[in-house]
Amino acid sequence: MPDISARIGKNLSLVRQRIATAAMRSGRRGEDIKLVAVTKYVGKAEIEALVAAGCSDLGESRPQQLWQRAEEFADLPIRWHLIGHLQRNKVRRTLPLATMIHSADSVRIIKAIEETAAELGRRGDCPDFHVNENGTVPFRQRRVSLLLEVNTSGETAKGGFLAPEVEPLLPELAQFENVDIRGLMCMASLEGGLEAARRDFAALRKLRDRMLAHCPPEIVFDELSMGMSGDYEIAIEEGATIVRIGSALFEGMV
Ligand SMILES: *Cc1c(COP(=O)(O)O)cnc(C)c1O
Repeated sequence: MPDISARIGKNLSLVRQRIATAAMRSGRRGEDIKLVAVTKYVGKAEIEALVAAGCSDLGESRPQQLWQRAEEFADLPIRWHLIGHLQRNKVRRTLPLATMIHSADSVRIIKAIEETAAELGRRGDCPDFHVNENGTVPFRQRRVSLLLEVNTSGETAKGGFLAPEVEPLLPELAQFENVDIRGLMCMASLEGGLEAARRDFAALRKLRDRMLAHCPPEIVFDELSMGMSGDYEIAIEEGATIVRIGSALFEGMV
């Protein structure tokens, strides 16, 4: 246990340093980038150590695992992020437990979330992901936060909206009353290395900027969830506001 804590503490501070340095290169501060620690590879001890080290935004890619962990660690101040595909029959159980769903990948699933959120009266009881470091400035956060997952590389194996599909959806998205569509998410190309990753991240930022310019005032559409252990510094240079990092936090452990 002490080993796990020490190791995670060290890895976390290294990752935070690298986040801060990359943020500076894009004219921002480390605190402007939110870190979601992805716990899908690890167990109870690592999760407890992460929270003890001050990391309270945790991500899971499978809804069932998120449910199980949200219940198991209900006493800890954790905000859970769903970063993987959500099926319609899993919406009802996921909504009360997740702070943000990064992987809204079809209009069908967004409609299902909207309808279920209305039924559950999800508004207003959401833990606030947008409170800043001092615990002040609560951001408008009354509804389930969603990000639209975009398949920037167009690879057929990947899910998500194709980039040209996203902008025309804006008027329809603005109608949804029980979800808060906060921005975009992508995973970089599996092939083509860091150069291809940078292109994907830049494409997502440009799409966000175009959408932001045409956004109805009731939508705040500024988040960009992009960057994982192998490419988060590049993602931040290209404008990421949220990075999702797993293996780099557990180096030397799993
Ligand atoms: C697993 C996963 C991550 C974290 O991956 P690492 O390379 O371990 O940092 C980030 N995003 C998604 C969608 C994932 O499934």
